[in-house]
Amino acid sequence: MADTDDCLEFCRGRAWLELDAAALRENIRLLQKRLPDGCRLMPVVKADAYGHGAVLIAKELQKEGVQAFCVAGVREGVQLRRNGIRGLILVLGYTHPKQFPLLCAYQLTQTVIDAAYAKQLNDYGECIHVHIGIDTGMHRLGIRSSMLDEIRAVYELEHLCVDGLFTHLCASDTMAERECSYTKAQAEAFYDLIGQLQSMGYPCPNLHIQASYGVWNYPQLAGDYARVGIALYGVLSTKEDTEKWKELQPVLSLKARIATVKTLYEGESAGYGIQFTARRTMRIATLTIGYADGLPRALSCGVGGALVHGVYAPVIGRVCMDQTTVDISNIPSVQAGEEAVLIGRCGQLQISVCDIASQAGTITNEILSRMGARLERVLV
Ligand SMILES: *Cc1c(COP(=O)(O)O)cnc(C)c1O
Repeated sequence: MADTDDCLEFCRGRAWLELDAAALRENIRLLQKRLPDGCRLMPVVKADAYGHGAVLIAKELQKEGVQAFCVAGVREGVQLRRNGIRGLILVLGYTHPKQFPLLCAYQLTQTVIDAAYAKQLNDYGECIHVHIGIDTGMHRLGIRSSMLDEIRAVYELEHLCVDGLFTHLCASDTMAERECSYTKAQAEAFYDLIGQLQSMGYPCPNLHIQASYGVWNYPQLAGDYARVGIALYGVLSTKEDTEKWKELQPVLSLKARIATVKTLYEGESAGYGIQFTARRTMRIATLTIGYADGLPRALSCGVGGALVHGVYAPVIGRVCMDQTTVDISNIPSVQAGEEAVLIGRCGQLQISVCDIASQAGTITNEILSRMGARLERVLV
């Protein structure tokens, strides 16, 4: 009998992600080159590293010398620690007081998201390392940059150790006039506050202001860290933007198996809701991937497609939860068990996550971060 563990380790059975380690390294290098002097990467590996697999990606980053990471929630931080990730792990979002013990036990750094929250953190009664989130115009998390006294008060809390301060730019993705002046005002508000704090004797180490678009559009903005997410994975949010930053290399490919190949005769329909009817005899293939794997249902009925033998095969009918049917009439000798590429290169052709994002009417960040938990992740 075959060893079942070996069988389980075969990661290309159904639908899987292939992660290009060389591309990731190249993106790290490109980003580091673009950062101002003294500024280091603090890669954002929230949402399972934008769907890529947080542990896998963080381990690769650690091998490349990265010593600081951002996550969205405390459990993501714990997962990294339990898998041997060292250095700074900053929780960017809210942690429930019931989970404060995790911050200490796993040496995670918590964002101070407002003044009342700082007091809650302090009331836990054990030393917690924090970065103060400063709201300069996004109005999501952080203490308003104008509230100097509230920010000073955080320093006075006996159980909090202020290790850093940061803000988040909310319009750095375009250089249009309105957005540009908004971004400049945000940066100014942040640096002004830091100047005031420093002049009053409050230490302000570990400042960070940029995310991917900040690094791209405002590489001169000073900081100790840059919280880079999407660009690290080799794309920007849209196809247009990604085409401008040509050197970035997409890290992720999405592949699935062809479960079966069949003939569809003229007048027959395929899939839920009888949305597709064959106008002539055709060959179709059923792929082992669906919207539960992160392939958007919006790709149904010819909006999206797959690459088979280096040829484009449009989706016919609706994308199902676990399966998707494509038209392979123009692709000779396709066999069950072969691979189909949903994102990535195949021969001369490529489907990028940018294509999928525009087909689905969203940004690459959403497509990537919704890659299904049941996809296997394989480093290549
Ligand atoms: C998600 C996030 C980032 C990363 O943004 P990208 O645009 O993906 O680089 C940086 N900072 C904060 C606060 C975030 O929430």
